[in-house]
Amino acid sequence: MRKSKNVQELFTLPVNLEPVLYTDGIMVYSSEGLRNKFKEVISGLESTKDIAPYIAKLIENGIIIPCYMNKGILKFLSYKIFSRKEEQGIMGFYHLGQKKVFILIENNITFWGHGNDKIMTLTLLHECMHLLADTKPKTFWTMFSSELNSYYQEFLKEYFQLKSLPKTDKLVKLLTVFEGEGRSKITSRFAQYKTIISETREDTTLKEDEYQERLDTYFKVLDMGMNDTSTLINKIYNRDKTVLRIIVSLYKSYHAAFKVTNTVTTPFQEMFAPSEVLCVLSELKPSYSKIRKIFKILA
Ligand SMILES: [Zn+2]
Repeated sequence: MRKSKNVQELFTLPVNLEPVLYTDGIMVYSSEGLRNKFKEVISGLESTKDIAPYIAKLIENGIIIPCYMNKGILKFLSYKIFSRKEEQGIMGFYHLGQKKVFILIENNITFWGHGNDKIMTLTLLHECMHLLADTKPKTFWTMFSSELNSYYQEFLKEYFQLKSLPKTDKLVKLLTVFEGEGRSKITSRFAQYKTIISETREDTTLKEDEYQERLDTYFKVLDMGMNDTSTLINKIYNRDKTVLRIIVSLYKSYHAAFKVTNTVTTPFQEMFAPSEVLCVLSELKPSYSKIRKIFKILA
């Protein structure tokens, strides 16, 4: 990847910031200069040249917002956003209510020194997958159902110790609908979710009580992941065995399905947000042609 002078410039640029959005008690600052500079950087990078015109359009339409904001406050927003790294500095996120992608210029400086253009680009790819799944769920499902099936097949096989790969079409469809509906409605679909997952019972090598325990734990952790992220993160750090079994299974499934190692997230959003699978994939295989195609669709 070509080192861009512009990126360096972007982060040191004295910009006349103006409030562009107020959401959840947080003021988001941007400026015409910042937006233009961001577009210029994106079109100059080898890794984003091909999709730069679409990204420019999304910036002009206010869908992608390169911005500064008070970052400490973001944890209070966790139930409303998808972010790239919940447990570390957030570099960008997708806001479910606003249906916008925020790229935090400030955090990119703090965590990546001289404005790491690669990380910024990957953050952009990642958050735009959430944007697609949330705003065009049918398109998302049509485009990526084969990848999603591969991933969830491996996950169920691993977590419930199945003899063979299960069918996951129903599950993938349901999860995609979940995501399109927004998180507030997800809990009303838990029963349906549980019924579909329970079909794996016939193929498990686990004893009945062990299977049931894993099934119950799964839905507890799923609920925690959606409604109480900080407790979940704490349990992961404290090496809670039952929680880790799920996280590790989610983690291993990336390798089993796509032959890639997930070095970018602690997986748990995959339980309720199928777009996260493609987010991770977009960071690990940014040149994957289907992922490049989403920008034309979004713009
Ligand atoms: Zn994400």
